[in-house]
Amino acid sequence: MGIYAVEGRLLVKRDDGKIHWVTINGKHIPIGMSRSEAKVRTTLRKLEDKIRSKKVEHGYIVGVNGKVLWKGSGKSNFVGIENAIERNLLKGNIFTHNHPRGMSLSGHDVNNMINHRMRFVRAVSKSFDYEIHPPKSFDYSEKSINEFWNLYWDIREEEEDKLLGLIIAGKTSAEKADAEIDHLVWERMSNEFDMRYRRKSRNE
Ligand SMILES: [Zn+2]
Repeated sequence: MGIYAVEGRLLVKRDDGKIHWVTINGKHIPIGMSRSEAKVRTTLRKLEDKIRSKKVEHGYIVGVNGKVLWKGSGKSNFVGIENAIERNLLKGNIFTHNHPRGMSLSGHDVNNMINHRMRFVRAVSKSFDYEIHPPKSFDYSEKSINEFWNLYWDIREEEEDKLLGLIIAGKTSAEKADAEIDHLVWERMSNEFDMRYRRKSRNE
């Protein structure tokens, strides 16, 4: 990573040769991002680094201005957000939480995102950050929502069959397959529905 200053602004150039952010008044602002988006990203990063190694799930709802609107904790594979739903805190906002077992976003996570029209949802672990956005120009009609979940279950079944084949052939373990299934499904779903989905390694 190379660092150099131009006219009082600190530009950071990574190994890929691209400039990734400028620093203004001590704040890192990624290139191509508005200030509010940069604020959201900074808040998410701070919160997520606190929870990514925890053994039970912790969740936060963050507003588009970067303000933390709600926090809660649950069990090793669950954090309940009913309380936030009752208070109507989900619409247009961001939900982030940790997945202690390192998996990608669950069907339940994405169901919440769509039902409550959230901006995007993230799950983090020691090794990965996962992020998913609702499909672009999604009309949220019952028909579209049904199409979405019908395809989800078809793709899931196909991917489970493939993984089962790999387990039987001794090419992967049940544990690895279990950790990978959600990721494989969202990768395919994101192509089908033009939705942003990514898995980022913490080492990147
Ligand atoms: Zn989750």
